[in-house]
Amino acid sequence: MSKHFETEAIRKQTERSQFSEHSTPLYLTSSFVFDDAEDMRASFAEEKERNLYSRFTNPNTTEFVDKIVAMEGAEAGYAFATGMSAIFSSFAALLNAGDHVVSCRSVFGSTHSMFTKFLPKWNIETSYFKVEEVDLIESLIKENTKILYIETPTNPAVDILDLDLIGKIAKKHNLIFIVDNCFATPYIQQPIKFGADLVIHSATKLIDGQGRVLGGVTVGNKELMREIYLFARNTGPAMSPFNAWVLSKSLETLSIRVEKHCENALKVAEFLESNENVEFVKYPFLKSHPQYEVAKNQMKLGGNIVAFEIKGGIEAGRKFLDAIKMCSLSANLGDTRTIVTHPSSTTHGRLSLEDRLEVGITDGLVRVSVGLEHADDIIADIKQALAL
Ligand SMILES: *Cc1c(COP(=O)(O)O)cnc(C)c1O
Repeated sequence: MSKHFETEAIRKQTERSQFSEHSTPLYLTSSFVFDDAEDMRASFAEEKERNLYSRFTNPNTTEFVDKIVAMEGAEAGYAFATGMSAIFSSFAALLNAGDHVVSCRSVFGSTHSMFTKFLPKWNIETSYFKVEEVDLIESLIKENTKILYIETPTNPAVDILDLDLIGKIAKKHNLIFIVDNCFATPYIQQPIKFGADLVIHSATKLIDGQGRVLGGVTVGNKELMREIYLFARNTGPAMSPFNAWVLSKSLETLSIRVEKHCENALKVAEFLESNENVEFVKYPFLKSHPQYEVAKNQMKLGGNIVAFEIKGGIEAGRKFLDAIKMCSLSANLGDTRTIVTHPSSTTHGRLSLEDRLEVGITDGLVRVSVGLEHADDIIADIKQALAL
């Protein structure tokens, strides 16, 4: 990145139109016009870098992608309709029938479904390791392994995986190392510095940050992005220009929002550590976190997700949700509004206890996506709900 993060986030901008607007306008157009036959030929032959059709590129999606590319220290990128379309399209573009994936077991629910229900349709199998089994990764790698995939911090247990260590394993075995960096955002963590070839975001979360639009993006190595781009421009998972316009505006405030999210989250985590109804708290920047040293090495701040174990298991978790007054009960995260969830009775309620424990979801685990309300008000709401 040539300038500082905040400056690139604000000043990297689509070229001004003839109207000299200050803020980037919304380019709601499906296609673009050519001067003449030669202009059209050269454009389709990719001899010129220009917009042809908004399934390929559009000024708004390009501005959004260019910012993420700069923030992540990547070479190229492509914006997708959702985080899941970014993940699925990246895998679909890079894998062939018969290839094999090694992934951490703690991945986003729909990513897990992709690995276990859909990729097997094309004879692509995935081998999982648990967060505490990083030393088993090499034993899972086979002749046909092509991708090594992780998320860190993990959802919802907020475990940390060592990017440097896993990046070195990927390099040694010539694997494509892909990191879902959604929980950290590029402001907190840049996996490419630790050897990631591709970084994926659900822009729906902290990048939007205000719970409005869906979006996804993949950035990284030029050659890999070229394959992903060709797949996407032909199969159609592109982000809409409107969502790109919203998300590019959001990036202008990403640094100050994430700073405040993390400041509030640390206060909530410290409060929870001192509460008698709480068994344990997981937050990357608490000294009590098992991977505190790794977190400090690879993250600038601790993130906005705090997990804690309420005393009393499933029933206590349900009671806590019912007692919450201000915070929202919702499936999203990374919103200005604080959101609380109880995975074992909701999102992961259909899993067996054994399967839940594999991803760190104990009976009383509560996940808090700490928002931007005053920290005292967030803490007061959690405190009264814990006391009931
Ligand atoms: C939400 C999320 C996704 C999926 O993103 P969508 O925009 O909802 O499709 C992927 N990975 C992680 C870590 C997420 O939190």
